Amino acid sequence: MSTSYPLGISFEFFPPSTDAGREKLIGVRDALAERHPRFFSVTYGAGGSTQGRTLATVRSIREAGITTAPHLSCIGSEKAQLRDLLAQYREEGIDSLVALRGDLPSGMGGIGELRYANELVEFIREETGDHFEIAVAAYPESHPQAPSFERDLENFARKVKAGANLAITQYFFSADAYFHFVERARALGVEAPIVPGIMPITNYTKLARFSDACGAEIPRWIRKQLEAYGDDSEAIVKFGTEVVSRLCQRLLDGGAPGLHFYTLNQAGPCLRILDNLA
Ligand code: FAD
Repeated sequence: MSTSYPLGISFEFFPPSTDAGREKLIGVRDALAERHPRFFSVTYGAGGSTQGRTLATVRSIREAGITTAPHLSCIGSEKAQLRDLLAQYREEGIDSLVALRGDLPSGMGGIGELRYANELVEFIREETGDHFEIAVAAYPESHPQAPSFERDLENFARKVKAGANLAITQYFFSADAYFHFVERARALGVEAPIVPGIMPITNYTKLARFSDACGAEIPRWIRKQLEAYGDDSEAIVKFGTEVVSRLCQRLLDGGAPGLHFYTLNQAGPCLRILDNLA
């Protein structure tokens, strides 16, 4: 596999909540580090609910010697809390972030002082200048709460222009949705690279649940085929690997600047896809 595309590959993890999960992640990290990713990233729970675990995971992931970007969401947080966290990240030598609004879990406090990701990006730039490389989220199939595709695209452009260096997309299974989004974003003056987010397919029930929640469409032909496999997880993995490998190849051939994998803390599915790429 050649990684001649400019932004290479990156891998996203979630902070494990058990000792077994933490131990397993070290092995996953090491297996993926061998593919020379440009960076790893670690997700963050809205309102700071995983703050300690995100930081602990970032520390352990960074031991592999690869840039590691904590995700940071603003919803449900006060500026003072975010300021302290940014200062702590700087002290630890962290220089990359994924900046998000996040989603407030039901029943959890108020919105906080920053309502949207563009306000968080502005805040980070005001507080820390150019210290951090900032990535933001993009939605080729539209954010589920957006009133329209156009409005969402304008909001995306605003967020990049507030000072983001790159964007990572929500996962999708239609390469055309990605190319259309990139073209429309360029027309609005967005120059930052837009890296496709890639979700390996390994489990139909989980994929359907995630996709319903985040608004990613599973095309009918993929859904029907996965349904037909029932409990045959080997067949699901084989088919899922083929489908997602073809998607990745098409994205790269069409000019995508890199690939960002939602690993779900597993190395195998990402490695199988990477092994299939030319
Ligand atoms: P925003 O860009 O703020 O957009 C949210 C909605 O508000 C959109 O509908 C948008 O159109 C609208 N909007 C944006 N700006 C404005 C404005 N100024 N005025 C009016 N409307 C506006 N979630 C987590 O909790 N933790 C994570 O670690 C995490 N990591 C993620 C990583 C990636 C790459 C992606 C794609 C998503 C991630 N998410 C994560 C999910 C994300 O938090 C949710 O999708 C959330 O609902 C939106 O976050 P955002 O930063 O895209 O929000």
